[in-house]
Amino acid sequence: MNFEKNYYWDFILIGAGLWNSIIAWYLKQYNPKLNVLLLELSSSVKNHIWSFHQNDISSSQYMLIKPLITYSWPSYQVKFPKFNRKIFSGYYSICSKHLNSYLIRALGINNFLFNNKTVEIITPTSIRINNKKIINANCIIDGRGLKNSQFDGIYQIFLGQQWNLSSPHGLDIPIIMDATVNQKNDEYHFIYTLPLTPNSLMIEDTRYTKKPFLKIDMLKKSIKDYAIKNRWKLKNIEREEIGSIPIALKNEKIIKFKKIICVGLRANLLHATTGYSLPIAIQLAENIAKYSITTNQINSTVLFKLVKKFIINHQKKQRFFCMLNRLFFLSNSRCHLDIMQYFYTLPDKIIRNFYANKLSFFDKIRIFSGKPPISLFQALYAFLNL
Ligand SMILES: Cc1cc2nc3c(=O)[nH]c(=O)nc-3n(C[C@H](O)[C@H](O)[C@H](O)COP(=O)(O)OP(=O)(O)OC[C@H]3O[C@@H](n4cnc5c(N)ncnc54)[C@H](O)[C@@H]3O)c2cc1C
Repeated sequence: MNFEKNYYWDFILIGAGLWNSIIAWYLKQYNPKLNVLLLELSSSVKNHIWSFHQNDISSSQYMLIKPLITYSWPSYQVKFPKFNRKIFSGYYSICSKHLNSYLIRALGINNFLFNNKTVEIITPTSIRINNKKIINANCIIDGRGLKNSQFDGIYQIFLGQQWNLSSPHGLDIPIIMDATVNQKNDEYHFIYTLPLTPNSLMIEDTRYTKKPFLKIDMLKKSIKDYAIKNRWKLKNIEREEIGSIPIALKNEKIIKFKKIICVGLRANLLHATTGYSLPIAIQLAENIAKYSITTNQINSTVLFKLVKKFIINHQKKQRFFCMLNRLFFLSNSRCHLDIMQYFYTLPDKIIRNFYANKLSFFDKIRIFSGKPPISLFQALYAFLNL
């Protein structure tokens, strides 16, 4: 196996999560000759679904990742106590199993390896495996996910369950936010539902909360109650996923990553309010892949600078979202629903730009115009707490 010989790699990607998978795909699409090694800690493919909005990415980016898209819908809806709204913008989901089957074909089965429990990054161009063997590459990319110590903020906590139903559910487009469910103090609660097939649904209980953990039984019950309310006849669970995403209240300082290229959650690369990161991963993957075709030999120092610049730009864009997070979470918890409900009365274009990280100055003004759902004092507090 190439991996065991003294082989020189163009790229070694550590962690086969969302980000490195997208980067690996882009690298091989732009330059099939590149030697790319993808190393994953776990022993098998994890079962995730990652979604994004049509307007989050360009049409050329869409064409490149189209084979990876497992489910797509022409529009989606949101539900609040005062109204339901359908938003005419495509919504897409990528399943990790589907993604990995494409990656194995693109990389070659020997270049996508699981069960790597002892990978140690030594320099920007070398790793150590099994405490002894050193493997070199032109460039190492660290995509090992969130480091616990990195974060101080609030959490978006999910329990997602994929259910088979004994009769069709009748839902034809996703409900990405149903906030008609019970709201508790100090959290914002909604249910997210993807109609995968006529007889299967992905139902996710989602909460923005100050607590890093929630009782799983409570989340399970909430999903069951929601299914009963919608008269969905749940038969058996296909898969279950629990997780949390850090939601920053302040713009994090640039992480010192000692010249090692970090991506994804390792580098705080996510939309600070929604927690989505797939479109950002696609953008960075495109930048890295474009760089890779401009040179005969990948240079990790050049690439480090490229990624660092990307992270700094991303963090600048997140200042506004962090301020919104403060407005949201420092405000009285009774206001959470009012704020979200108000947001979804805004024009489609602003909602699309919000998710896509592309708010213009005028979009930002528009978000704050109209009757404020929170008091002036609370707003001032959030602004000054930059
Ligand atoms: C339930 C849930 C639903 C979500 N839905 C969406 C969504 O719809 N859209 C969206 O954009 N985002 C979504 N997110 C957020 C998204 O999952 C993260 O932003 C994304 O996974 C971050 O990607 P990553 O590659 O940085 O980390 P991860 O995807 O967490 O991948 C890190 C990988 O590194 C591996 N690893 C760790 N240590 C090592 C090691 N020492 N050696 C080798 N490998 C290692 C891990 O096993 C893992 O596979 C969701 C998150 C959750 C929890």
